[in-house]
Amino acid sequence: MRLVLFGPPGAGKGTQASLLVKREGLTQISTGEILRRAIREGTEVGCEARQYMDAGKLVPGKIVRSLAENAIAAVGYDQFILDGYPRTIEQAEWLTEFLERHDAPLTAVISLEVPDEHIVDRLSRRRVNGETGQTYHLDFNPPPDNVDPSHIVQRSDDQPDAIRKRLSVYRAETMPVRQYFEVHGELCKVDGTGELEEVYQRIRRSISRAKAATDTPT
Ligand code: ADP
Ligand code: ADP
Repeated sequence: MRLVLFGPPGAGKGTQASLLVKREGLTQISTGEILRRAIREGTEVGCEARQYMDAGKLVPGKIVRSLAENAIAAVGYDQFILDGYPRTIEQAEWLTEFLERHDAPLTAVISLEVPDEHIVDRLSRRRVNGETGQTYHLDFNPPPDNVDPSHIVQRSDDQPDAIRKRLSVYRAETMPVRQYFEVHGELCKVDGTGELEEVYQRIRRSISRAKAATDTPT
């Protein structure tokens, strides 16, 4: 099974991807998380990416493409969920061509549909475990008691200016990707509002339908 989780910043992609990892044994490939790890480790890629990320801008396509390419190759072109990739038409076209070349077409692109009014609240109250990348929300999904509170931090791009910028980048550059996959026939729209578990069950149903329609091996 090969999935893309698509949606605006704060739609719940990372949260749902980590549930799919735990329950379906898939590997999550989050380009944002790979970039944040590179920043933590102080690599050359991390240093270059940081200025773009803190400003809420997209990191140049060439950098992100090679990260995505390596991560997909590392899992043998199967059993993965892409979270946060592709984010531009150029990335979507490259991904389609790359996966076709490896005889590994996408099973489904799950588009998490969440209205704007939820997004700012989700992002401004989001917290992450700086050690593991696990995502929480102060009200809807608080960090459990057994997690060291000193590891719980706010992302530097979850500040009001960067949130505004990311939403405008999403509208201008990433929204067209939704239409791209709609035309290609892989898009599955899923209501991303409500309890985490409800959203997860909708995603599961949507994957089952996509698998039945394409008869893609799991
Ligand atoms: P994305 O990866 O799409 O940016 P996240 O998974 O990081 O989104 O979720 C953004 C924030 O919203 C996090 O704080 C997360 O805990 C919270 N969240 C995710 N899903 C839901 C939901 N169904 N209801 C309420 N809050 C949610
Ligand atoms: P969110 O959870 O808010 O959707 P991500 O963790 O996916 O954010 O990404 C954080 C940042 O990493 C983005 O704002 C962008 O700067 C960079 N980034 C992640 N994925 C990509 C990508 N596919 N193309 C360009 N930049 C990316």
